[in-house]
Amino acid sequence: MPESTIAISTSCILSLEMPYSEQLCIRRTVYRGGDGPRAAIVAGIHGDELEGLYVCHLLADWLEQMARENPAGLAGTVELYPAMNPLGLDTLTRAIPVFDTDLNRNFPGSPNGDLPKRIAHAAIENLSGAALVVDIHASNIYLREIPQVRINTDFADSLVPLAQRLNLDLIWLHGAMTVLEATVAHSLNSVGTPCLVVEMGVGMRITPDYCRQVMSGILTLWKDLGVLAPDVELPPLNHLPLIADDSNVHYLNAPTSGLFVPVIEHWTDVRKGQLLGNIVSPLQGGILAEVRSPVDGILFTLREYPLVYEGSLMARVMARKGRLA
Ligand SMILES: [Zn+2]
Repeated sequence: MPESTIAISTSCILSLEMPYSEQLCIRRTVYRGGDGPRAAIVAGIHGDELEGLYVCHLLADWLEQMARENPAGLAGTVELYPAMNPLGLDTLTRAIPVFDTDLNRNFPGSPNGDLPKRIAHAAIENLSGAALVVDIHASNIYLREIPQVRINTDFADSLVPLAQRLNLDLIWLHGAMTVLEATVAHSLNSVGTPCLVVEMGVGMRITPDYCRQVMSGILTLWKDLGVLAPDVELPPLNHLPLIADDSNVHYLNAPTSGLFVPVIEHWTDVRKGQLLGNIVSPLQGGILAEVRSPVDGILFTLREYPLVYEGSLMARVMARKGRLA
């Protein structure tokens, strides 16, 4: 038996000439162990979302330690794509600069289209056929989200069992009517490559605890799927997800403009009528509006950016189905 090793390589899945002769490279790192299944992590589709970049770093660090200490532990191949939208990341822009388009509305893309379409096409070409793709998003800069996976009900039968092993706090099932078809996840799931969309934290920030939580779930799933060898030791999962869907998620939108000041921590159990925060004015004393929970439940989205316009989303509360009946 030859001694096993992990081959580590970095390459561009797409290289494009820029107008001033610079090269745009969609970069990935590949860890190749045995002949087992292939798994991929995608991040940085939105240039203002950094949580997934840190998860990629944590996984890279873990895999490099495996390469030194237990190379036989990697039974398959892992691909990390931390920056699908490098122009956006470099310029702190959610969309793809110049084209001003959301990369996640350009899938499955086209090899002859404009730059966003070519990035999307290269991504699908390389990700298709993987045993699992996890596409990691942060929230935007306005809202803080608990680590969760969002699943189109069309794919729930195959994806929910995977998502339950991802060490998340929430699985949010979305009805077919509200699903966007031009996303990387929809494109991959439509061709039979399972893709889980993780949302967590807040835009332009990293939340190290959330990143480590999701990392341990990813490792567990990789082991389940045979990407990692059965004898690799992992810590037990310490989060079990609640299930949300269109029937038990309540949106709290601002009744008036002002500064939203929460009086409660994110991811807290709340009672119907409980005060969650106040909207106040920078010009006067007193309270413009009180924000109260409409149901018994758990506060899983909380506004991070205080300025609100009338109608702005401030929070989401998930009713606990069992308790409400
Ligand atoms: Zn995103």
